[in-house]
Amino acid sequence: MLSASDAEAIILSLVQPLNTEQDTEFVDLLAASDRILASPVTSQLDFPHWDNSAMDGYAVRYEDVQDCSEEKPAVLEIVAEIPAGVQPQSTIQSGQAARILTGAVMPAGADTVVMQERTRREENRVIILAAPKPQEFVRHQGTYYKAGTQLLPAGIRLQAPEIAVLAATQCTQLKVFRRPRVALLSTGNELVTPDKPLQPGQIVDSNRYALFALVKQSAAQPLMLGIVKDEPEALKQAIADAITQADVVLSSGGVSVGDYDYVEQVLESLGGKIHVRAVATKPGKPLTVATFGNDTRPVLYFGLPGNPVAALVAFWRFVQSAIKKLSGLAEGWEPTFVKALARQELRSDGKRETYVWGQLRALDGVYEFQPAGGLQNSGNLINLAQINGLAVLPVGQTLICAGEQVQVLQVGS
Ligand code: AMP
Ligand code: MG
Repeated sequence: MLSASDAEAIILSLVQPLNTEQDTEFVDLLAASDRILASPVTSQLDFPHWDNSAMDGYAVRYEDVQDCSEEKPAVLEIVAEIPAGVQPQSTIQSGQAARILTGAVMPAGADTVVMQERTRREENRVIILAAPKPQEFVRHQGTYYKAGTQLLPAGIRLQAPEIAVLAATQCTQLKVFRRPRVALLSTGNELVTPDKPLQPGQIVDSNRYALFALVKQSAAQPLMLGIVKDEPEALKQAIADAITQADVVLSSGGVSVGDYDYVEQVLESLGGKIHVRAVATKPGKPLTVATFGNDTRPVLYFGLPGNPVAALVAFWRFVQSAIKKLSGLAEGWEPTFVKALARQELRSDGKRETYVWGQLRALDGVYEFQPAGGLQNSGNLINLAQINGLAVLPVGQTLICAGEQVQVLQVGS
């Protein structure tokens, strides 16, 4: 059976990121958050847009105040008041100053701002009590960004800081990659949707809802395709339909060795190429990965385990990074592991890479991992609530004692 890291390498090698013109669209700034930039952005505006004051104070000519001190203050005549947003009208001559406020445009003639706290005002005169440094508190046009140069590179996710940068430089139309389409299917005769009255023996389909949320968090577009019966013909039709609509198909259930587990044979009957049949992980051993189409970007099919905990673990460990890589992110799509101190002992049978779910917290700059209370059993879906990490016990390791270090896969964002 494949190891988790071999499976991860195979899966990521199957993913060809979005990269053609057809994979892009234009969105405006309010629709751009969480999207991936498809081409570098260049603005036509310098930042700052003009020389302006970094302080409330007085705009002066440095030569007028360079030698002043509390004992020997400089006295300047105030010839203008310049609030932010106003174009100054006068030129500052020797012996003159302008009252200026933070962000306001520097008047011609002045080259330095003296902060208010180092001055005293007497009617239309200002007494400068300390010599500033040359050009102090002036933010010069274009210091932080020069118009026409690259502002942001392609392949990054636009989040609040990038949106601020784009807004400030008036880049309001952004070329981004389309969101990968991820089709979601649940397989199982026993399944019903959460809104239906439950008949004896039925099981509520939670996987499709959890996967919907996970796909959205990965900035992809989920397509809810429903529940499919454990019947080869029905499954074949549903999968054939899914692969025509999506970049990635996620089904759950039907990939184990049970009497009703038909997913793998259906994938093969549809011409799918199977790359992974099972992975040595716990939970999550049954995992089928297939591709359809041998063009440059095949449709990627993940047959996830039916078991709800196993389905989510398989998503976090193998699917999320594939979706992120597909989405056009230039880097940072790999799973993120951090080192943490286990707050309780963690156990495994040592036979497969084992994931213990729980909470990762940073305390005084050190990560700590607290396993979720209740049974760590792949049938226990309920104690998944509020977790944000999967502690990893590698093959061969049966125990990590409380206080020892453990690798934790960060999940949930
Ligand atoms: P399977 O791999 O299809 O045999 O499913 C394993 C277990 O997971 C069974 O108990 C199923 O009832 C359960 N299961 C399968 N699919 C889902 C689903 N979509 N939501 C919740 N539980 C499921
Ligand atoms: Mg099933």
